[in-house]
Amino acid sequence: MSKRDYYEVLGIGKNATKDEIKKAYRKLSKKYHPDINKEPDAADKFKEIKEAYEVLSDDQKRAHYDQFGHTDPNQGFGGFGGSDFGGFGGFEDIFNTFFGGGGSRRRDPNAPRQGADLQYTMTISFEEAAFGKETDIEIPREEECGTCHGSGAKPGTKPETCRHCHGSGQISIEQNTPFGRIVNRRTCHYCNGTGKEIKQKCSTCGGSGKVKKRKKIHVKIPAGIDDGQQLRMAGQGEAGINGGPPGDLYVVFHVRPHEFFERDGDDIYCEMPITFVQAALGAEIEVPTLHGKVKLKVPAGTQTGTKFRLKGKGIPNVRGYGVGDQHILVRIITPTKLSEKQKQLLREFDEASGNAPFGGHEESFFSKVKRAFKGE
Ligand SMILES: [Zn+2]
Ligand SMILES: [Zn+2]
Repeated sequence: MSKRDYYEVLGIGKNATKDEIKKAYRKLSKKYHPDINKEPDAADKFKEIKEAYEVLSDDQKRAHYDQFGHTDPNQGFGGFGGSDFGGFGGFEDIFNTFFGGGGSRRRDPNAPRQGADLQYTMTISFEEAAFGKETDIEIPREEECGTCHGSGAKPGTKPETCRHCHGSGQISIEQNTPFGRIVNRRTCHYCNGTGKEIKQKCSTCGGSGKVKKRKKIHVKIPAGIDDGQQLRMAGQGEAGINGGPPGDLYVVFHVRPHEFFERDGDDIYCEMPITFVQAALGAEIEVPTLHGKVKLKVPAGTQTGTKFRLKGKGIPNVRGYGVGDQHILVRIITPTKLSEKQKQLLREFDEASGNAPFGGHEESFFSKVKRAFKGE
């Protein structure tokens, strides 16, 4: 059985950036999550995607993979009979230094294993992201069956050692090839690799040892969380196998956009319309912020596009490093519907300023333009 290329698994190019890898992983892991996708091979695909991501998202592992490919001892060398490596000894260790352990798939089927991680996407409002919130979510997850306590056997009976693989969970198949005899190991399909045979299955879980339950979990959304960020809740994933620890739950946040504010990191950006009278004479205007209305002094002679900053009126940093600012871009609105009186006053105003731009003593941009047209 050949293993698919990790880049191919995630559907990305060899030069994919970390961001692209993450995006591809998120998309695919959602699509094939066994809780969502009920196709028979979804669980295998999910595992494959997760494994590819674990390697490609880690710089060291990725570099190793780019150079050596799949050096999983079960795949690359399995064909030559695993036991022949007994004398070698060190191979597993070298492998572990590259892959941080846990890479070998030929594990003892009775060994405790960690339960699967779960992912939950939560949509929250702009304000909830800024200030945090406590809420309950319900997630479907597999838990240890209470009737058989995970063994899968009917109460009063015990699982027996599988007769076909003698409890190893794997079966060796010998083949004669031009290169000599090759031993292939396969997962025992009588016991699905568990090494156990259940004669009388537990009626609650049907022998799987696990039941699907909707579990209510209390989530504390931290203030300052941003779109796409996730929260890891240790031990809230699926139940462990053979008494292993449970997996983790990852809550991924999707933040709805705000109608008025835009966010960049911990800072907030918004536009404020003001009248040309307020801009010319100066004014105190009211600006909405996440923390309530704030008065802002606009000095006389303010131009459109002028930026102001309200310190500390942004979003609290999710790691507790202070609070961001709010940036305001002033936009001067030209009036469109004028009454006769207003028009008259504006004409008088224009006359009083001698049809010239309303600048001070410096030569303004407009008079420079005028001069250019006159060829002075
Ligand atoms: Zn059961
Ligand atoms: Zn078996």
